[in-house]
Amino acid sequence: MAKKKDKKAFPLLNTEEAEEVVHELGRALDAHRDWTNRFRKMLVCRTKPKASDLNVDAHKKTAFGRWYYGKVHPHLRDHPDFRAIGKHHEHLHGLARILSHTIRDKEDVGIAQYDAFVESIGCFRLSVRKLLSESWDMLRHTDPLTGVLTRTAMQARFEDEQERARRNGQPCCVGMMDLDHFKSINDTYGHQAGDKVLEVVAGYTLGHLRNYDQVFRYGGEEFVLLFPNTAIDKAKTVLDRLRRGLKRKAIAVGKKKNLHVSASFGVADLLPDCPAKMSLENADQALYAAKKAGRNRVLIWPLA
Ligand code: GH3
Ligand code: MG
Ligand code: MG
Repeated sequence: MAKKKDKKAFPLLNTEEAEEVVHELGRALDAHRDWTNRFRKMLVCRTKPKASDLNVDAHKKTAFGRWYYGKVHPHLRDHPDFRAIGKHHEHLHGLARILSHTIRDKEDVGIAQYDAFVESIGCFRLSVRKLLSESWDMLRHTDPLTGVLTRTAMQARFEDEQERARRNGQPCCVGMMDLDHFKSINDTYGHQAGDKVLEVVAGYTLGHLRNYDQVFRYGGEEFVLLFPNTAIDKAKTVLDRLRRGLKRKAIAVGKKKNLHVSASFGVADLLPDCPAKMSLENADQALYAAKKAGRNRVLIWPLA
């Protein structure tokens, strides 16, 4: 069976990085559109071609080329599709160079020659747009306050894990985490302190789970955790360790002010053959029971 392509070609970017990547690509694409418009005008009006378009390294001389071969965001440069963009771009300028010579030599442009040029513009723009769309997704899928994945990203990740579980029969668990008495932190220390707590809790959680576990911000102070290839007892052990660690962690809010928070958790199996919503509801029921039982604990669904 063909190996499934890894869709996560970008590392997990934070919001700022994803924004930079989106802006950079958007600007580069705009710059290239300006070049294309100018070049088409030259073709239609048969004006004198630009010297730079006649050169063998024309692809390095345009605004897009200067960006591509210059200072590119490292996350873009390392992306596996970035090279393909360069190849399309070089090919496009190769065709543009031939066209420029045709015009300079006052010869007719053949239909096939022009069609190939137009097609190469399409291929090039598509390759950039693909990367741009992936960057937009990254932006949409990253919670700006905490840096973890958003609820929007959840459905697809759950479906991926369900498919994996169906394929290899390995268990997967879903956890729900809700901070205890979080409202009172806002009420006592202010909303900014509350935000700081959320940021620190999310960072701590990410840092204390395995790389392939996933953390989503589900709502205000609620997080969903996805544990691939994990049986429920193991997930409970991991969550209990996280819970104890969180409780011990001193969170600095303002000068000389340290807060401590606790969290309650519910955990359930991710059912491979049911809508993911159902497994989430089960974890939520366990979380609700954990709250009712006194908070700062992990309960498993189905409840004992
Ligand atoms: P419980 O132990 O039962 O979970 O109590 P709680 O106070 O944590 O729960 P409740 O749902 O009553 O309060 C959640 C609070 O989270 C209310 C809301 O103002 C706050 N909140 C939601 N989103 C944010 C946010 O982005 N920043 C801050 N600072 N507060 C938020
Ligand atoms: Mg809540
Ligand atoms: Mg709460």
